[in-house]
Amino acid sequence: MTDSCIFCKIVSSEAKADIVYRDEQVTAFRDIHPVAPTHILIVPNRHIESVSTLEVESEPLVGHLFTVASQLAKEEGISKGGYRLITNTGVDGGQTVLHLHLHLIGGRRMRYTMG
Ligand code: AMP
Repeated sequence: MTDSCIFCKIVSSEAKADIVYRDEQVTAFRDIHPVAPTHILIVPNRHIESVSTLEVESEPLVGHLFTVASQLAKEEGISKGGYRLITNTGVDGGQTVLHLHLHLIGGRRMRYTMG
């Protein structure tokens, strides 16, 4: 936990969020500025800054983030139609919150864009 990290505060319930899933490894909550009908952030409970600071020990955790994303997509009813998973990394990648997170975005047709 880092004192200034908003996602750490959400994980520890110090800050409010619309939490849709929680277990011992990850927490998922709705993005405050959704860009689509479903926009959920899935974060590790432990503070990891980004993909750039990942260590090999975190491989099972990263796999779990994706499994939870897949499960939540089913619960949101967007699994069949499809959805987008995004992990912005660093300043050039557009990362604004420095706590690793997976955006689960769906419920509308995405435009093809790579930046
Ligand atoms: P990124 O730009 O990839 O780092 O994404 C950060 C995301 O976190 C943005 O989509 C924000 O809207 C979202 N966000 C920031 N603060 C909160 C918060 N307190 N609760 C929910 N979502 C948040």
